[in-house]
Amino acid sequence: MQSSNGMQDVVIIGGGPAGSTLGSYLSMAGIKNMIFDSANHPRPHVGESLVTSTTRVLKEIGFLETMEREGFVKKYGAAWHPPEKRGEFDIAFREFAQPGIDQDYTYHVDRGKLDLLLLKHAEKLGSKVYQGAHAKEVIFKDGYPQGVQFEIGGQAVTIPCKMVVDASGRGTFLGRQLNLKKKDPIFNQYAVHAWFKDVDRGAGESADYIHIYFLKVNRGWIWQIPITDKITSVGVVAERDVFKESKLDPDGWFKSLLNSTPEIARAMQNAERINEFKSEGDYSYSMEKFCGNGFLMVGDAARFVDPIFSSGVSVAMYSAKYASERIRLAFATGDFSEATFKPYEDKVRGGVNIWYEFIRLYYKLLPSFTYFISHKEYRVQVLQLLQGEVYDRAEVEVLEEMRKFIQKVENAPEGNIFKKALSDIYVN
Ligand SMILES: Cc1cc2nc3c(=O)[nH]c(=O)nc-3n(C[C@H](O)[C@H](O)[C@H](O)COP(=O)(O)OP(=O)(O)OC[C@H]3O[C@@H](n4cnc5c(N)ncnc54)[C@H](O)[C@@H]3O)c2cc1C
Repeated sequence: MQSSNGMQDVVIIGGGPAGSTLGSYLSMAGIKNMIFDSANHPRPHVGESLVTSTTRVLKEIGFLETMEREGFVKKYGAAWHPPEKRGEFDIAFREFAQPGIDQDYTYHVDRGKLDLLLLKHAEKLGSKVYQGAHAKEVIFKDGYPQGVQFEIGGQAVTIPCKMVVDASGRGTFLGRQLNLKKKDPIFNQYAVHAWFKDVDRGAGESADYIHIYFLKVNRGWIWQIPITDKITSVGVVAERDVFKESKLDPDGWFKSLLNSTPEIARAMQNAERINEFKSEGDYSYSMEKFCGNGFLMVGDAARFVDPIFSSGVSVAMYSAKYASERIRLAFATGDFSEATFKPYEDKVRGGVNIWYEFIRLYYKLLPSFTYFISHKEYRVQVLQLLQGEVYDRAEVEVLEEMRKFIQKVENAPEGNIFKKALSDIYVN
């Protein structure tokens, strides 16, 4: 399984969830790999609430015991809060049992801690891990990568390899080098977030749900995610134009939107911020392709969609799992051409397209989401999506029904109660 000349089989750029999960799968298959990350872990990262489908991957790579041992907050469900009235509607994951998953919860995570643990796990399984190593260029010859040039401690170092996988997250290292990155035509969101103590999360099991508060501004919402029993992550998201037009700084913008929504304003009454505000922008895009001769992209390095449904880490881990399957095939057959990896792209693109369509319809008409999630017949299908079951699905009936519902509202006469809730997102 090892290549000659001491050459690495696979160089992985980036040691977030995508890179570490891939390294774990490859080592389990006996494929030599090295993971390089610019950062020194633990490093802070946005993206703290998981969906239940990740459990399957965590189990396969033997990491579930670590999740349990490290005491990450258990997430049993999710709740949404309409902007004007008090109250919520929610889901509990136990309502929809997922094949191969025998726990009715997932986790909220301090990403600094999770990503370090995952990286150490990959190392334990056999990946060689280098931190503080910044990828500068993938070197191609005759259409295939020959190696990657890194900057390590101020020195340029070239690592020869058989294959390269870009797992550099929203850094999108290889996509930028190959000019493959396409900005999303619809979404241009902006987020400001920080950690707080003394947030009143309420009582009972739902205190540890993710809570989403709808805002009255374009595509606006607030997340409330428990990080520990005392610390809560709170983030405000909206269209970038909403932020620009407010003429406020990120801190002032966060506070003004928070105070516009009675339920979260009440929960935050006595809250104290414990770290700096961070902002994220321009974060929806896709690469024109996710693979080529001798290379693949996984996780955010391939595509990123709006985080309203906490899909990111799940996509990172599943794309790593599916990438590892095609990489194993390439080593078994000796065929490293794009054709070997293309089924990987089709599978991941298909799954992320379902997330994307769900998100698009959600933003197009919020009441359609609240209608279908409360619907006796369709609720379970909505749950299935929210829990990350998006791969290998040709049709998703509830999405078709949501589209029809929206069309009806669009064609309804003025005065229809839902009509004013329609946003300008293109839906066909
Ligand atoms: C506002 C917002 C909220 C979100 N909320 C959620 C959520 O609740 N739940 C969820 O699941 N997801 C969420 N996400 C998405 C989540 O953050 C990502 O999908 C996830 O981190 C992707 O993992 P990854 O391994 O692909 O990339 P990353 O976790 O970003 O890891 C990439 C790694 O590559 C390294 N790197 C970058 N460039 C280089 C280079 N040139 N050389 C070497 N190393 C490099 C970086 O240091 C980093 O460690 C959110 C995202 C945003 C923007």
